[in-house]
Amino acid sequence: MKISVDTEKCVASGQCVLLAPETFDQNEEDGTVVLLAEEPPAGERDAARQAELTCPAAAIRLAEA
Ligand code: SF4
Repeated sequence: MKISVDTEKCVASGQCVLLAPETFDQNEEDGTVVLLAEEPPAGERDAARQAELTCPAAAIRLAEA
């Protein structure tokens, strides 16, 4: 699994961080997404998929390897 994020699209809702805090973080200044791990930890793969589905800006892309 490989994740990419589009910070231009991100609306700083923070849902991805709540779902998968070891994979996503938020920029301290504007709240936009910061990708911590292109490959999410094993325990957060389902959460990362959920984040892709629930991101209101469709700013998260997952490619299944
Ligand atoms: S869920 Fe989407 S819009 Fe919200 S912070 Fe994460 S990437 Fe940005």
